[in-house]
Amino acid sequence: MKINVYEIFNSIDGEVNAMGQGAISTFIRLAGCNLNCPYCDTPKSRLVKNGTKYDVDQLVDMMMTRSNQSQKITITGGEPLLQAEAVTEFISKMQQRESIMFTIETNGSISLFKDCPEELMDKADVCFTMDYKSSTSFNNWSFIEDDSYFIEGDWLKIPIGDKFHLEKPYKKDLIKLLNIQKGRNFQIALSPIYRNKKQYNQLVADVIEFCMAKRISHRVIINTQIHKLIGLK
Ligand code: SF4
Repeated sequence: MKINVYEIFNSIDGEVNAMGQGAISTFIRLAGCNLNCPYCDTPKSRLVKNGTKYDVDQLVDMMMTRSNQSQKITITGGEPLLQAEAVTEFISKMQQRESIMFTIETNGSISLFKDCPEELMDKADVCFTMDYKSSTSFNNWSFIEDDSYFIEGDWLKIPIGDKFHLEKPYKKDLIKLLNIQKGRNFQIALSPIYRNKKQYNQLVADVIEFCMAKRISHRVIINTQIHKLIGLK
């Protein structure tokens, strides 16, 4: 089976993930995305034609012979679950050869329950960080309600682009998501989307005020994208 890769690099996982922000990770960014978010920071990876197609075995060999590879691999995109079968085969083959933790970053448009191989969901050492897209791109909380595969160790990341996102109707969805989370134990992070430090500081202040006023400050964290703050990829 072929897998379409945009790039491979080492960095820290600055987003929320099962091992915690700052985990050292090798990133495999897959090519191709089904969304077009206005704040996309890797627009070139959206296009299938910008990737390089490898046999899964070839990618496994490449990863095994890399001298500088982390024991955590973050599979990101683009949208990696558009290649869910190939991702499953890749993880299975890597896990047969080495003990590696995987996190998969998904845009939330693909149901883990309906559209992904069961084998992927059943795997140990595989966790998900799922974006909850605002009404400007894609709105998918119903997947999260249905997806019993989305569990402890997984993160739901909610981009907050401006104060509007903390007002209706987004606020209503957030409260609903918090109710769904109660019985399931996945974790929720609010993630300010910003162009400069001033905007970031304002958004964080707005989020703190909102969480305190709604008495949910113990139920969410702020995803700070620490790799960006220190100038890493
Ligand atoms: S889902 Fe991710 S890769 Fe796709 S357009 Fe949105 S931010 Fe970019």
